[in-house]
Amino acid sequence: MSKGSVVVLGGGVIGLCTAYYLNLKGFVVTILDKGDFSSGTSFGNAGMIVPSHFVPLAQPGMITKGIKWMFDAQSPFYVKPRLSKNLLDWGWKFYRHATYKHVANTVNILKRLNLESKILYTELAAQLDDVEIKSKGLIMYCKTQSAFDEEIALANRALAIGLKAEVLDVKQLKKLDPTMSIDVEGGVYFPEDAFFSPSGFLEKLVMHLKDIGVRLISNVQEAEFIVDKNLKQINSSKGLFSADQFVICAGAWTRELTHSLGLKISMQPGKGYSFTLESPVEMPSICSILTEAKVAVTPMPEGLRFAGTMEIGDMTFSVNHQRVQGIKKSIPNYFPNFQVDDFSKTAIWTGLRPCSPDGLPYIGRTKKLPNVLVATGHGMMGMSLGPITGKLIAEIAANQSPGIEISKLAVERFH
Ligand SMILES: Cc1cc2nc3c(=O)[nH]c(=O)nc-3n(C[C@H](O)[C@H](O)[C@H](O)COP(=O)(O)OP(=O)(O)OC[C@H]3O[C@@H](n4cnc5c(N)ncnc54)[C@H](O)[C@@H]3O)c2cc1C
Repeated sequence: MSKGSVVVLGGGVIGLCTAYYLNLKGFVVTILDKGDFSSGTSFGNAGMIVPSHFVPLAQPGMITKGIKWMFDAQSPFYVKPRLSKNLLDWGWKFYRHATYKHVANTVNILKRLNLESKILYTELAAQLDDVEIKSKGLIMYCKTQSAFDEEIALANRALAIGLKAEVLDVKQLKKLDPTMSIDVEGGVYFPEDAFFSPSGFLEKLVMHLKDIGVRLISNVQEAEFIVDKNLKQINSSKGLFSADQFVICAGAWTRELTHSLGLKISMQPGKGYSFTLESPVEMPSICSILTEAKVAVTPMPEGLRFAGTMEIGDMTFSVNHQRVQGIKKSIPNYFPNFQVDDFSKTAIWTGLRPCSPDGLPYIGRTKKLPNVLVATGHGMMGMSLGPITGKLIAEIAANQSPGIEISKLAVERFH
């Protein structure tokens, strides 16, 4: 029996997974996307599922590093300075959360969400043709002793909260992934992480959603939200859409979208780039992060993908070639058989991470409009957290208590 109707706004990993779990619960689901279900941030990212990312971006030391990096045109992190009330408000909230106390309060929830999402990914992949989640872990390669020391401390912290982590010297790293020539000081291996091709997975999920009766409508522009205590209807370029409930999963565009509904969601875009080498000189068997450069390296069926940079505040898709060059130049420092020229012909993909100021996603029902739910703000780990977010939203929409205590993720937590 149908539980009622839901319109999901946004067809990235969060919207698509949300639609999947809503359908499983018995809702009649329609997804509206302003693009064509292939243009969001979810499609060209590094495809890592990351229980190892249990520390939020808002952490001690980040402000100092950020200020230092602002003067380096090729640095991996950058805040585009501009006089914007939203940016100032977001920056203040970020500053207030970059504390040891905040990290201690959030590591367990981030760990749990990521671990449960990984299990759900494996279940979901089993229903899709030709999709493979590689549960082979992730290596943090450290070029310098100081970064290695920081990663060792992180590994100890991971062990203390029940995650697996192994500190490895160069010989052990070479044994773990013999395909790679490396020039590093050491590294940490997180065996519970995994990786996959995000676009490969999502293409198959889109096909599956159509098969199970979810309506997917592309190139939609909302013209008007019709509100009467609740959201009643959306008037759009593709007609009028009514539903019992609405879920907003519009990624970096959510702040603007929810603003029209009178909701205030603190968020900034975190721009990043990726490029993929079809025939790399060496193909690793395990994904990795080049720690100091903050570059993610993922083997995928389409080639070897490199991804990096976080430019806070720029909502355009323009490419900052200096920063892309920063990514390219860092690679041979860790993998000496690669050369910067190897990447001269690769196309650059740009994505906008939806970044909340405290590094936690927004998941839940809004108080202002009780039939409107929001799922966004996943920042660096939206791909990883897609399935668990969808499952939690479906539980909340069905008025069931969510399987995980998520009060820290409340949508209106800053008000
Ligand atoms: C370089 C890079 C590497 C990354 N690597 C990883 C990684 O390895 N692992 C990981 O977990 N995360 C990674 N991420 C982060 C991850 O990609 C994002 O957190 C995630 O894709 C966000 O998903 P989303 O569905 O919220 O947003 P999107 O994928 O951006 O989807 C939002 C959708 O909403 C639609 N939309 C916008 N406005 C409207 C509107 N008004 N009406 C209807 N639809 C609308 C858009 O068209 C879009 O399809 C990376 C990001 C970048 C940039």
